[in-house]
Amino acid sequence: MSRFLKVKCKCGNEQNVFGNATTKVLCLQCSKPLAVPTGGRVRIVGKVLKVL
Ligand SMILES: [Zn+2]
Repeated sequence: MSRFLKVKCKCGNEQNVFGNATTKVLCLQCSKPLAVPTGGRVRIVGKVLKVL
């Protein structure tokens, strides 16, 4: 998984997240984690709207 995902946070913010991010991705609006790296892959915490 090495592409961008469009993820929607619980706060309503929509953000693009890199599919193999190696650092935690935080929501720009509420600072909650949207994606957490888990050994090479990324676990999406929010809702994936689209694979870009
Ligand atoms: Zn948010």
